[in-house]
Amino acid sequence: MRTVQHWIAGAPSSGGSARIAEVFNPATGAVQAEVLLASTADVDAAIGAAWDAFPAWSQTSLSARAKVLFAFRELVNANADRLAEAITDEHGKVLSDAKGEVQRGLEVVEFACGIPHLLKGDYSDQVSTGVDTFSFREPLGVVAGITPFNFPAMVPMWMFPVAIACGNTFVLKPSERDPSAAVILAELWQQAGLPDGVFNVVHGDKEAVDAILDSPRVAAVSFVGSTPIARYIHERASAAGKRVQALGGAKNHAIVLPDADVDFAADHLAAAAFGSAGERCMAISAAVAVGAAADRVVEAVGERARAVKVGPGRSAGAEMGPVVTKQAQERILGLIDTGEQQGATVAVDGRGFTVAGHEDGFWVGPTVIDQVQTEMDVYQQEIFGPVLSVVRTDDVDEAIALVNANPYGNGTAIFTSSGEHARRFQRGVHVGMIGINVPVPVPMAFYSFGGWKDSLFGDKHVHGPEGVSFYTRAKVVTTRWPQVAQASEASFHFPTAR
Ligand code: NAD
Repeated sequence: MRTVQHWIAGAPSSGGSARIAEVFNPATGAVQAEVLLASTADVDAAIGAAWDAFPAWSQTSLSARAKVLFAFRELVNANADRLAEAITDEHGKVLSDAKGEVQRGLEVVEFACGIPHLLKGDYSDQVSTGVDTFSFREPLGVVAGITPFNFPAMVPMWMFPVAIACGNTFVLKPSERDPSAAVILAELWQQAGLPDGVFNVVHGDKEAVDAILDSPRVAAVSFVGSTPIARYIHERASAAGKRVQALGGAKNHAIVLPDADVDFAADHLAAAAFGSAGERCMAISAAVAVGAAADRVVEAVGERARAVKVGPGRSAGAEMGPVVTKQAQERILGLIDTGEQQGATVAVDGRGFTVAGHEDGFWVGPTVIDQVQTEMDVYQQEIFGPVLSVVRTDDVDEAIALVNANPYGNGTAIFTSSGEHARRFQRGVHVGMIGINVPVPVPMAFYSFGGWKDSLFGDKHVHGPEGVSFYTRAKVVTTRWPQVAQASEASFHFPTAR
């Protein structure tokens, strides 16, 4: 049985803990590896390695740091298939989707390659007579990332390329359900020339997370996961005096107005609801069908739901794989049951779904539940599976009010051909990321990603400009030079950065 080890100070580490967790292949239901679960001492060793590496890395010049980032970018690109296969085998998502995830992570590395530009400060000449003021930003120290199962490469890559480019050192605690991608990324960092100790990986559960939250050597924590854990991380890390951004769960609504192109909307709704088996924080899980659109939407999405090609992630042509664990499968199927019991109509039923030859896989078929009311469990809970609930409203204002009454505020979309309605929607919804005829509006890496309300605790979004801000702090220097300094560093070679 393969054992997924930690990565500490530039080498695999078996740590000192005897605890392990099983890593499943969701398409077969079989255990394919075991992963170490770190003790507090293991986490302290990783934090210690990052602590020791910080002085030299933070003093490394911007151009030298950028060179490592560029080399890492090339290596991730060259190893994209290997990373995608590891993701598919442990998460279950189809290979094309896993490759898309790697690509979106890579875009953050590309953003971070521009770190010399991103860390430019401001300069004000002659703020007083003979006095100038300038500002610049410095790294924080050791920073940590705690990440969810659903994007085992992309979500860590929302964090560490920016943190490391800014001069911090990093400890990653990935999900114990699909831990291998993180270790591959650690190996690639080393090949890219990143000094040992700058990037470390510890696997584990609550014990490892608490060790990070309580360590006085960790300056900042980035978290992505479910809302109850995000709230906990934010409270505990804040109480320990750390900077923290904790992204939580979601219930993303897509409003379909009667003036929308229903076929276009149905194609995109199906992809947004059933892609990655609905295990995306930006998945659309609630369609808000307005007025006369409702029956047509349910029929058109239902057609597409029945046509989704479900199969093992590595099989050619599969569009949707299994869900991540048996527990997730049981929870999702149970929620569909409650929807039916509470009076909704299961228009397309994914219960009892199986794939020939993979009967023990964790399958849930694409499901559409119509006539959902907001007090039902299927609406109240984040299902995180291939289930689309359809809620009906009479007009666009009622639809916007429904989106705003929901405690989550991660992403939302509208399908319409009316600019007026789209504008009213974009200005009126209390949500962080908004799509107009774009159902999964995940911002590119040079913008920042984050939700509102129960989808984010903390005030900074990840990557993009807010990521740079999160991982650095400002200094403002006011200078006066009573005498002219003597220049003495003339050189005859073409000037290069030192
Ligand atoms: P999760 O909250 O169960 O786990 C996230 C991380 O927290 C993992 O590393 C896990 O080991 C750790 N953890 C779990 N229980 C813990 C506990 N009791 N104490 C301390 N640490 C704990 O989330 P998940 O199931 O891995 O991922 C799915 C969730 O993540 C969904 O709710 C989804 O919406 C959310 N998510 C949000 C975003 C976003 O950008 N807002 C992105 C991706 C996923």
